Amino acid sequence: MDTSRVIADRLRHVEGSPTLALAAKAKALAKAGKPVLDFTAGEPDFQTPEPIKQAAIQAIRDNQTKYTPVAGIPELRSAAAAAVNRTRGTSYQPAQTIITCGTKHALFNVFQALCQPSDEVIVLAPYWVSFPPLVRLAGATPVVVETREAEGFLPDPEAVRGALTGSTKAIIINSPGNPTGAVIDEGRLKALARLAIERDLIVVSDEIYDQLVYPPSRHVSIVQAVPEMRDRTVILGGVSKTYSMTGWRIGWAAGPQPWIEAMVNVQSHSTSNPTSISQYAALAALTGDQAPVAAMRREFQERRDRLVSGLNRLAPLRCAMPGGAFYAWCSVSGLQQSAEATAAQWLEDLLIATVPGEGFGAPGFLRMSFAASLKTIDDALGRLGEWLKKRRPAG
Ligand code: GLU
Repeated sequence: MDTSRVIADRLRHVEGSPTLALAAKAKALAKAGKPVLDFTAGEPDFQTPEPIKQAAIQAIRDNQTKYTPVAGIPELRSAAAAAVNRTRGTSYQPAQTIITCGTKHALFNVFQALCQPSDEVIVLAPYWVSFPPLVRLAGATPVVVETREAEGFLPDPEAVRGALTGSTKAIIINSPGNPTGAVIDEGRLKALARLAIERDLIVVSDEIYDQLVYPPSRHVSIVQAVPEMRDRTVILGGVSKTYSMTGWRIGWAAGPQPWIEAMVNVQSHSTSNPTSISQYAALAALTGDQAPVAAMRREFQERRDRLVSGLNRLAPLRCAMPGGAFYAWCSVSGLQQSAEATAAQWLEDLLIATVPGEGFGAPGFLRMSFAASLKTIDDALGRLGEWLKKRRPAG
């Protein structure tokens, strides 16, 4: 049998996540003893705070090791609703939330629940690598709308308008954004909201980085900017980035109850429930002392400043200051070679692991996660400085 022939059509344009693949490659090199400087993974390098780990251990001791309700344990749904409501002025009830196996899985459920094969979904580029595949896996079509470096990679509502057709169902927004760290301002959110209302569109708002915003930037949710958006928006979040809990796989969605119920149906036939033990850990994260979050944010800010200012001293590299998340989005177009070639060269020659922009729909850039120590950042800047000196024509 030609075994590849039977792969489903909808997977024809879906490749595996390049961020995860490159992070795995960097980890394998480090394991093999290479002094690799890893800027690939969107994964905080801090340990999960101790009280959260203790809550998971306690959950095992308490025999919380059986199926939970599909949508998550009630206490965690309440805590997730409270976390969403705390900063957005909303009043989501636990029944308007679902706990999922990470925020990526919340997005998967959203598109499975809301999209039909004829639907188009607006994706703003540079986009997080998984947005287009998640839309395709639901049989729908991603329609990419570019944002511009000169505009800080913020969405242009008129460009979005230009891409709308009778089949457009949804717009994905992601603020603070991966990979650019751009934080969408209230004015643009209002303009996007007006457009969504006028054209009867859904907004899928991935707000996983809402706690990782650096002053003077400020996270504003579209449902806060325009309260009328609450009945046409689903908000996604999770504990992975805020509490350094990537491996525990706990995310959530909050939105109109019928949408949440449809997502619960999808989940009931796929994962049943997120891991019971992780749910208790996430509950401890959301309801416990928030001091570790502030400490991690301060540390990220220091790293951001060091990496971004350092890159900007290394012409022709160029990097805008991200207002949130933990990614430096570095232009390498001045090197006159593709980002993919540059990333491969940096890995091979300098043992610096980055993610090239092609996977984010933006060639000409590299993503460097500053979830890496100051020493790693300084070493990388040193190696890059030497490399660029050698590269420049003499004289
Ligand atoms: N979201 C993180 C990243 O962009 C984790 C990897 C992934 O899920 O793509 O690196």
